[in-house]
Amino acid sequence: MAGSEDAAARVAAAVPRTVLCLIEELGAAGHAAYVVGGSLRDVLLGRPAKDWDLATDALPERILEVFAGSVYENAFGTVVVRRDGVPFEITTFRTDHDYADFRRPHRVTFGEDVVADLARRDFTVNAIAWGRAAGGQPVLVDPFHGIEDVEARILCAVGDPDARFREDALRMLRAVRLAAQLGLTVEAATLAAIRTNAGLVAHLSGERVGSELRRLLEARAPSVGLRLARETGLLAVIAPDLAAERGAAAHGIPGQDGWDHTLRTVDAVPADRPVVRLAALVHGIGAHRTAALLRRLRTPRAIADVVVELVPHHEFEVDPAITDAAVRRFIVRVGRDRVDDLFELRRADDIAGWPVADDAALATFRARIDAELAGGAALDLAALHIDGSDLIRELGATEGPALGRVLDDLLDRVIDEPALNERATLLRLAQGMLAAMDDEARA
Ligand code: ATP
Ligand code: MG
Repeated sequence: MAGSEDAAARVAAAVPRTVLCLIEELGAAGHAAYVVGGSLRDVLLGRPAKDWDLATDALPERILEVFAGSVYENAFGTVVVRRDGVPFEITTFRTDHDYADFRRPHRVTFGEDVVADLARRDFTVNAIAWGRAAGGQPVLVDPFHGIEDVEARILCAVGDPDARFREDALRMLRAVRLAAQLGLTVEAATLAAIRTNAGLVAHLSGERVGSELRRLLEARAPSVGLRLARETGLLAVIAPDLAAERGAAAHGIPGQDGWDHTLRTVDAVPADRPVVRLAALVHGIGAHRTAALLRRLRTPRAIADVVVELVPHHEFEVDPAITDAAVRRFIVRVGRDRVDDLFELRRADDIAGWPVADDAALATFRARIDAELAGGAALDLAALHIDGSDLIRELGATEGPALGRVLDDLLDRVIDEPALNERATLLRLAQGMLAAMDDEARA
C-alpha cells in the first residue's frame, strides 16, 4: 500500500493547476472527474507527461454546458476545452461495445463508473485514474494493478489478452510500440496472445498501422519494438519484405543477417530524424518495394517522397579523385535539401555494418559539398543569370519545349563550368544552341 500512497503523492504533485481547475469545475457542477491514460503512466514512469486527458460521468452535452467555449472533437462525444491555448480532452466514462472485424468499436455506451471506463483500456499501465467522485477527496483508482506493473516495468493487457487483441488488433501494435517507447517488458501471457493473434492485424487500415509504426520509430531504440514485432509475427503481416530480411545475407558481414543490419541502422539514426529512421528501416528492400510499402501504410506524401529518394542514393561512391563538377552534379542528383538526410542515413548504415568508405573520406566529400553550397554554385534554373523571357526578348526565341531544353542545356554547362554563368556568355551559348536546333528542324 505504501507504494500506492507514494504514487498518489507523486501524481498529485505532477498534475498541472489547469487540470486541477477542470476537475474542480466538474466537481462544483456535481460530477466525478479523473485524469486518465498516458499522462499518469508517464508521470509514474518518471517521464514528462504529454496530454492530460480527463474522464467524467457528465454526458457530452453536459460537459459543453459546464465549460463555456468547449467543442466536440469527434463523433464519439469527446469534448475539447482550451485553457491558455492548450487543448484538454474530456470524455464521458464509457464501455465499448460491438467490436466488428477486429477494429475499433462500432458504438460506445456511456457509463457512470470510472472502473468500467478503465476496464476497456488496453494495458494495465494505461488503466489508472486519479481524481475524485463528486464531493469526494482525490484518490488513485487502480483496479488492475497498473502501478505495480509500472514499478516492475511490465506491459500487461487488461483482462484476457487473447480476447482484448481479438476485440482490437491495433492493441498488439500498440504493445510493441509502448514496450519500445517506455522501456517495458511485455508480460508472458500478453506476449503469447500477440503470437496467437498476430494475423488479425491484416484487418487494420494501413493508416492506423502506419501511424503506430511511425510512433514506434520515435522511440529511443526502435529495435526493441521492431524485434518484438518480427518475433511475434506482426511484421510478417504488415511488412513481409522486412520480415524476409531475417536470415538473408547482409553485406557479407559475419554473424549478422539483413534484419540485424536494418535494426542497427535504425537505432543509429538520431531519434529526432524520423524520416531518416524510416529510410533506415526500408533501406534494404529497394526503392520499388519501399514505395509500395509506404503507400500501403498511408505515409504522408512529403515523407514518402523523401524516403523513396534516399534509399537508392545512400550507397553513393566516395571517390577522392572526383572533380568539383562531379560534386555539383551529385548535389543536383540528390537534391540540395536531401544532402543532410542522405549523409545521416549513410553514417548510420556504416555504423551498422562494414563502412564502405571510411569516415575521413566521407567527411572530406561532405566538406566539398558544403563548400559548393556555401560558394553559391548555380545548381538550378533559378540560379542561372538568364531566363526564358531573356531568350525571347534578346534572341527572338519562341515559348515552348525547345526553350526549356535550351535552359536545361545551359544549366548543364554552368554546373560543369560555373564561370559561364554570366549574361553575355549565356546569350552567346543559347544563340548557338537555337541555331543548331533550327538546322536540325530544317534537315
Ligand atoms: P502516448 O503517450 O504515446 O499518446 P497513449 O497511451 O496516451 O500513448 P493514446 O492513443 O493517446 O495513447 O491513448 C490514450 C489512452 O486511451 C491510452 O492510455 C489507453 O488508456 C486508451 N487507449 C488508446 N488506444 C486504445 C485501444 N486501442 N484500446 C484500448 N484502449 C486504448
Ligand atoms: Mg496520449
